[in-house]
Amino acid sequence: MQGLLSSTLRNMLSIFNTFSWRDAVDILVVAYLIYTVINLLVHTRTGLLIKGAAVLLFAYLLASTLQLRTIKFLIDYLFRYGLVVLVVIFQPELRTVLEKIGRTELGRSLFISRLGSTENDSQKKAIDIITSAAESLSSTNTGALIVFEKETPMTDIIATGTTVDAEISEELIGNIFYKGAPLHDGAVVVRKDRIVAAACLLPVSHNLEISRDMGTRHRAALGISENSDAIVLVVSEENGFISIAQNGIIVRQLDKNRAYQMLTSELCPDNPDAGEQLPWYKRIVNYAKVSKQ
Ligand code: ATP
Ligand code: MG
Repeated sequence: MQGLLSSTLRNMLSIFNTFSWRDAVDILVVAYLIYTVINLLVHTRTGLLIKGAAVLLFAYLLASTLQLRTIKFLIDYLFRYGLVVLVVIFQPELRTVLEKIGRTELGRSLFISRLGSTENDSQKKAIDIITSAAESLSSTNTGALIVFEKETPMTDIIATGTTVDAEISEELIGNIFYKGAPLHDGAVVVRKDRIVAAACLLPVSHNLEISRDMGTRHRAALGISENSDAIVLVVSEENGFISIAQNGIIVRQLDKNRAYQMLTSELCPDNPDAGEQLPWYKRIVNYAKVSKQ
């Protein structure tokens, strides 16, 4: 017994002796990935899957302990081949996880260039026009759904609608969403300072915790915000409320000013680095500074 204890202690000490900065990085990255994945999964239908897998695992351990061989054999096979089936079924969720990892602060600071200041100004002007339009749509209880594209390309979404490619104006937005107009059903996609498409179909959120008073328009806004980094403005036909959805969260009952602030701070922030494409090593240093704050 004493021999076993001392050899275990020796093994543990040898781990500490060979522990290098690589192991620390390794552990930190894995911990961060696990945290991100769990955080993301908790709020989607994959959460149910994890609960199911936990029940199966418990059943497997119980069957092993009680030596119930047939049950153990069946669960064994389920785990072995089930993994491939799960990857196929949950391909959209896996894609979301990978995209989210790419959109973390580190991903952003490494791969994404900032907007130039002229682009920034024209996008701010576009947001001002859109939020004014949202205010008048809200006063007439006209439903609207507007997706602002960020880094995730909305190509698949645009393909489901009608290409527009027009300069943004309050009149155009009013016309598109006017009840009974040919393009009023579905979402408008805005890229920088232009409307690129209308009547687009968005993926509907599978989040089971969404309040029941939110219908398909709001669920569609949440759906695209879960699946991409897009930010979505919604005007409710029922009560005229203006809402903004981002990263699977919807903020409701906004006025024009608040909506403008939220959209500009996300889409065209006043950043001292605006317009400047820093070399990768400086972006890592910047990232380290931002993370510390
Ligand atoms: P409201 O508060 O405006 O009534 P809601 O969240 O209750 O919104 P619904 O009443 O179901 O939602 O709104 C239906 C409209 O939402 C549709 O006519 C369509 O224009 C839009 N819509 C619904 N689903 C989608 C989708 N997947 N993609 C794009 N637009 C959608
Ligand atoms: Mg409704």
